Amino acid sequence: MHHYPFVKMRSRNFTSGERHKRAIACSNRLWSNASTVTFSFMEDLPDEVAYRVERIIRQWEPVVSLTFEQVEQGQGQIRITLNGDENWSAIGTEALDLGPEEPTLVIQTALQDPQFEATLLHEFGHALGFHHAHLHPDANIPWNMEAVYMYFKETQGWNDDEIEMNIFRINNCESTFKGEYDSLSIMHYPVPNFLTHGNFEIAFNMKLSERDKRLARQSYPAIDYRAQII
Ligand SMILES: [Zn+2]
Repeated sequence: MHHYPFVKMRSRNFTSGERHKRAIACSNRLWSNASTVTFSFMEDLPDEVAYRVERIIRQWEPVVSLTFEQVEQGQGQIRITLNGDENWSAIGTEALDLGPEEPTLVIQTALQDPQFEATLLHEFGHALGFHHAHLHPDANIPWNMEAVYMYFKETQGWNDDEIEMNIFRINNCESTFKGEYDSLSIMHYPVPNFLTHGNFEIAFNMKLSERDKRLARQSYPAIDYRAQII
């Protein structure tokens, strides 16, 4: 079986630190609208690396009402490490439930990997509270279940629960999906043809889609301050 360059993702339990399936609650984990969200790095990065990461995550900034402020190492509400053994992020304000010494956004993909930028954009989307687009109720992906279980067990070491949660568990929370299903979303897993029935695939999306931007604007709408003064 050939190896497809999947973004490896996994969730974890926030109270015990043990990794196991996390119920996707219907609660809204968005940050307060129009607030400042701070971020920092867990380790001392060369300036050019820190700058590159910052440039990538700030691609989200024009489409949300939030301000991203970089603060001292380890002090941010969103704490980023590039030394991860997986790609992972807390969903929105779940980051506040983690201990101050723990990272809340973890990147494994190497800086020189062509998928680094897309991976970081995806994980930062989680950090803003956005969920996986392939779990949208309207996704209707013709997964070949047997092939999917075999593939993720073999290539990612995921157990059945992790596979079910990451790939198949449709998220029916209305609050989570204000937008339409978007196969071009940065929050969508790639869907290789060999994991589906028939001739069906979705590419590894590399940038924020127009619908990603629209959903971000809906989730964090701009405030018209002039209207408040009047
Ligand atoms: Zn993800």
